[in-house]
Amino acid sequence: MPPVDFRQSQSDIDTGHPAIHCNECQSALQSDSQQAVSFLLLDQLTIPIVSCDDHLERFASVCGLTTEDTATLLDHRPAGGICCPGCRLARYNAAQPLVPVEEGAIVAMACPVHQAEIVQRFHTGLETHHHLSSDVSSL
Ligand SMILES: [Zn+2]
Ligand SMILES: [Zn+2]
Repeated sequence: MPPVDFRQSQSDIDTGHPAIHCNECQSALQSDSQQAVSFLLLDQLTIPIVSCDDHLERFASVCGLTTEDTATLLDHRPAGGICCPGCRLARYNAAQPLVPVEEGAIVAMACPVHQAEIVQRFHTGLETHHHLSSDVSSL
């Protein structure tokens, strides 16, 4: 009988903060170049976001559940620019909080007000998504 491998799934327990299991997210978040920045357009918000393509899209689609419009992702600065001066001046640094998205994470490079707002949208979207999927699976 082969020895049981306990290494899987043990590493996530008791680490205190969420680990990023997505290599692309990790490398996007570790590079401080502005090239990795995308822009999420949601209602009147324009939020610069750093993440990998997959988790960026995931984040955008969850946020999109909270609006009648669609959430749009741009990989370049929008033509109209960023209206909020605080967001425009925000820079990526280690103090910006990570927002876990499945096995990856995003960082919103926004002013504190809009950062809180987009994170709130994301959590609301997750709840909506959860309700939708649990409605289906409980039938
Ligand atoms: Zn990722
Ligand atoms: Zn702002």
